[in-house]
Amino acid sequence: MIPKSHPRYESLLLRDKMVKASQAGYLADSALIAHGRGEAFDYLIGEKTTYPAKRAMYVAVAALLLSNNPVISVNGNATALAIDEIIEFANTIKAKIEINLFYRTNERVRLITQLYKDHGYKNILGSLEDEMEYFDEIENNRASASKTGIYVADTILIPLEDGDRAEILKKNGKNIITIDLNPLSRTSKMSDVSIMDNIVRAIPFMTKIAEDLKTQDKQILIELVNDFDNEENLKESLEQIKIKE
Ligand code: ATP
Ligand code: MG
Repeated sequence: MIPKSHPRYESLLLRDKMVKASQAGYLADSALIAHGRGEAFDYLIGEKTTYPAKRAMYVAVAALLLSNNPVISVNGNATALAIDEIIEFANTIKAKIEINLFYRTNERVRLITQLYKDHGYKNILGSLEDEMEYFDEIENNRASASKTGIYVADTILIPLEDGDRAEILKKNGKNIITIDLNPLSRTSKMSDVSIMDNIVRAIPFMTKIAEDLKTQDKQILIELVNDFDNEENLKESLEQIKIKE
């Protein structure tokens, strides 16, 4: 048990979730390393949601609400850290959820599918039963997508995603939104909207934003999206990283 008074309580709790997920068998070996890279950036922003991240979240939610077929792409890390929050957000914005794994194995897909079912979400895409398509006709896991999900989606939320995958989605005309603590990652640079925040803080915040924006005029959402400059916002995000005491 980690005492609540511990200065790194929240962070240790997340590590514990990741270790348990790893032991449960649905994470790739490199997942813990990816988590560590995220942790380092989170440390440097004070483990708090910054202003540029909040602005990007408003734009992201507006874009998702405006799209015809929004999909949330989930991997092992996102699932381990925020499964219930992702399900709630998907239900709030009426988006589909699709499993997409960088190191896809049938066993990991089976375990993650079961987890979503256990948490009350029945219709997950990208499962073993789902029909998959391949972008660029390459039978490569990086290029795979559910026929009724990412393959035909207009806007895709890709939290904690790898740059190769982000590039394939972008090349295929998708509007992509990422949640990535590293504002220098290829995924952050390639996305249409990049949210530099920890997924555990970002998703619940986005659910709150969605409840608000759902009641607003469509024109307001369109303006939010049109007035946003991701490159500029990423620069501001980078300025939030403090390396001096
Ligand atoms: P890229 O391939 O986009 O250049 P990368 O190779 O540095 O990125 P990957 O392991 O491919 O990193 O992607 C995982 C990304 O997720 C990393 O950028 C990491 O900072 C980020 N990340 C890890 N944990 C979290 C978290 N809890 N919340 C948000 N982002 C996270
Ligand atoms: Mg990568």
